[in-house]
Parts: sequence; C-alpha cells; structure tokens
Amino acid sequence: MPGTNPRELGLLADCESCFGLCCVALPFSASADFAADKDAGQPCHHLRDDFRCSIHDRLRQSGFAGCTVFDCFGAGQKVSQVTFEGTSWREAPGTARRMYTVFPVMRQLHELLWYLAEALALDTARPLHAELAQALADTERLTLLGAGELEKLDVEAERVRVNTLLLKVSELVRAGRGGRDRRGADLIGARLAGADLRAASLRGAYLIGADLKGADLRQADLIGADLRGADLSGADLTGALFLTQPQLDSARGDTATRLPAALTRPAHWAAPQARASRPRTRGGGRARGAGRRR
Ligand code: SF4
Repeated sequence: MPGTNPRELGLLADCESCFGLCCVALPFSASADFAADKDAGQPCHHLRDDFRCSIHDRLRQSGFAGCTVFDCFGAGQKVSQVTFEGTSWREAPGTARRMYTVFPVMRQLHELLWYLAEALALDTARPLHAELAQALADTERLTLLGAGELEKLDVEAERVRVNTLLLKVSELVRAGRGGRDRRGADLIGARLAGADLRAASLRGAYLIGADLKGADLRQADLIGADLRGADLSGADLTGALFLTQPQLDSARGDTATRLPAALTRPAHWAAPQARASRPRTRGGGRARGAGRRR
C-alpha cells in the first residue's frame, strides 16, 4: 500500500519552494476578505521579490483574511520545482502564463490526492484499498505530466472518477451508523446546536453561518461542505471524513472543538469573537497553520 502521510506525499504547502503562485496566478476582488482587487496573473503588491508576503504576520489586520484560508495542498511547490524545474516566472517571463494556468489544475489534483490518502488510511475502507491505491498512483502520475499536458488535462473528469470512489468509501465507513443523508442540503444559517449528525452525509451541504455549536459530527462526510462562518464551537469532528484545513479555517470554533487528527486548530479560533472568513476558491485554504505566504 502506498504511503498516506500528507507530508511524504508533498501535500503540505511549502512556501519556501514556491514562486508565490497563489499570490500571482489567482484573482481576488476587494471585499471583506481582500483589501484590494487583483487580476489573475498580476502579482499582489504585497509579494516581495523573494516570493514572500510582506504582511504575512498581519494579514487579517491588514484586510487580507482571505489569504489565511487558502491552501494549495502542495501544488505551488510541485509546479515551481517539478513542472517548471525551479525556474520562476520572474526568471523566465515567457513561461508565466502557462505556469499560472497549470497551478489551479495541479491544486485540484493535489486536493484529490489528499482525499485519497485519507481514505487509504481508514481501516474501515480496507475492502477498497486496492482501488484507492491505484487511483492515488494514477493521480500522482498525472501531477508529473509536462506543463503542456497539464494545461489540456480534463481535471473535472478526474474529479468525477475519484469522487465515485470516495463516495463508496463514505458509504462503507458510515454504513450501519444511521447517519442522515443531507447531501447538498441548504442549511445556511441553520440552528443545529447540539445536533446529532454522527455519520451524516453532508457532502456539498451549504452550512454557511450555521450554528453547529456542540454538534456531534463524528464520522460525518463533509467533502465539499461550505462551512464559511459556521460555528463549530464545542463540536466533535473526530473522524469526520474528507474535511480539509481550508474548510476548517473558514469556520469559527474554539478550544473545545474536537478535530480530526490530520487537521490543525486555526490560529484565529483562539481570538474571542473572531470573524470567520470566506475561502477564495472552492475548498480554498492556507499554508497549514501559517497563512498564505511566509
Ligand atoms: S499572502 Fe500576502 S502576498 Fe500573497 S496575496 Fe495575500 S497579501 Fe498578497
């Protein structure tokens, strides 16, 4: 069975090895999460020559909370160091456009690798381990394609292929636990404090601003659930399936929230009445525990 450690799989953002791709390739609009507009391909004016963020230690205070909830799942360093072999868009401006196109493709592939690695680490998914291992190897192989091939890759088809398998994993792991099916449910602002959502399917559910204080979400499938501004204070997310750091970072919580082992308590949760922020992209995120560019 292949390794499932996110670090060994290169799925943790390593900003030191990246050419600031999230701060250049992606657009953002002036809003509560970003203090300015920026077009795709335009370097953020806070990006330094060494590809570090000049306001990294005060992003939220500076109006860039959106940057603290972005995670590339290690796609930045893969594109910088593997696909483009360590030559930056500053050194070779002719490669810039292609690099910016490849980055979001790679991010999606790395996100899929994250889910597959999580599924492979589940004992209860053992009957599917062979299929999962094959899917992980196939997806990893795609990440090693050349820039031209990555540009043309039908990444949506890959998402569908992997999601079919992840759905089987979810059903297997949650089987017999009586979890409710709230797939894609509109639960925006819902009052779910203390709710028993054990082993529920909340795949793609809209939980924006939901009150989930003290809710029991153990073994709930949260893949793609929109948790922006949801209050997870005191909630139990132990064993929650396919929850990512960006989802967690976009929510609120406290020191009593119980987390899946692979995830980190967001730093802003410690602050009383911290305002939740919106991820920039579907399933967006941040460099784990550190914000966007260090
Ligand atoms: S992390 Fe810093 S450099 Fe990057 S987009 Fe945000 S503010 Fe700009």
